[in-house]
Amino acid sequence: MTQPVMDLCDQVICSTYARYPVVLERGQGSRLWDAYGKEYVDFVAGIAVCNLGHCHPEVTEVICRQAQTLVHVSNLYYTRPQVALADALRRHSFADRVFFANSGAEANEAAIKLARKYSRDKYGPGRFHVITMENSFHGRTLATLSATGQEKVQKGFEPLVEGFLFVPYNDIEAVRRAMSSEVCAVLVEPIQGEGGVRVGDAGYFQELRALCTERDVLLIFDEVQVGMGRTGTLFAYEQLDVTPDVMTLAKALGNGLPIGAMLATEQAAQAFTLGSHASTFGGTPLVTAAAGKVLELLSQPSFLASVREKGQYFLERLRDLQSRHAEKVRDVRGRGLIVGMELAGPGKAIVDQCLSKGFLINCTHETVLRFVPPLVIGKDDIDRLIDVLDGVLKEWTP
Ligand SMILES: *Cc1c(COP(=O)(O)O)cnc(C)c1O
Repeated sequence: MTQPVMDLCDQVICSTYARYPVVLERGQGSRLWDAYGKEYVDFVAGIAVCNLGHCHPEVTEVICRQAQTLVHVSNLYYTRPQVALADALRRHSFADRVFFANSGAEANEAAIKLARKYSRDKYGPGRFHVITMENSFHGRTLATLSATGQEKVQKGFEPLVEGFLFVPYNDIEAVRRAMSSEVCAVLVEPIQGEGGVRVGDAGYFQELRALCTERDVLLIFDEVQVGMGRTGTLFAYEQLDVTPDVMTLAKALGNGLPIGAMLATEQAAQAFTLGSHASTFGGTPLVTAAAGKVLELLSQPSFLASVREKGQYFLERLRDLQSRHAEKVRDVRGRGLIVGMELAGPGKAIVDQCLSKGFLINCTHETVLRFVPPLVIGKDDIDRLIDVLDGVLKEWTP
């Protein structure tokens, strides 16, 4: 029944994705069902996208209503949902202005372009370098893959976009050494998601902030993966005691509808003037109406408190698991409901085993199991996953 779908996929879709042999058909909350009706508990959430769970009824209602009202008109005109979303993002963050795009990569493109223009307007040409981090991930467009500190993302696409300098993550001295009069921005993730759930220290970000301020270099936080409640605050930077000049969002902003956003302070945003940047689909009424509802729900203090509490519980349970499989589990780390478990070997076989037992988990950076469930996940589901992982780890050899 599903083999023809998978076979046709192999023929008609570009072969860029390694897929698991399952055809998913329906979702509700933290549950998914495949074409045979088999149920899965979702600890992937479309990679940190469906933070409110699948087909959240209030978001679905807004999508349906907006689809019957107005879907798209072009940014030649004003629409209410777009303006309302930007205003809500501004009220909930450090930012004064927003540019809407359609993905994380595009939001980062906008941030990189803004930084170059900001610096050029103020200081003239030549000051266009962006310091970015080893093992970072910023997207797959040419500029954002050039900004990404992973060779496997860049290989084959040379020549890369010029002007990115790579330094080790969480190392302020390395940034100091790379800093020069040619640098216009520092681009960094508060937690490296694709890079293996690496959590930067608050002190590191505070020193970055001071260094950037001193040199009028824009500090850009890529919160595409860790924003929108994932870490237990609406934005990850809120736990670092610093604010960036620019922040990018995407994944969970539309709970599954494609939307990206670049948020900036008034001072930084001044660099974008009439015609500086544009996107046909950026901020359509349909996606911004949905995202407005998503933001309203994710920003509830009691909801965010529950994310912190469940995240803490999940970490404790995984650390407990680590102590029982000390020779196979190297580390457990995370914040809120982005949690990583570093293994002593490649984790693919564990992901396969969990899939067959009805649990979707993900492995990144080869050896790091990454758990980014819908934020509505229950503690009972966390307990079930721990039991399954315990059994799978017993059988697994690194
Ligand atoms: C996923 C991701 C991106 C890229 O987003 P796309 O929507 O796939 O373009 C950029 N930065 C980070 C931190 C991400 O996790």
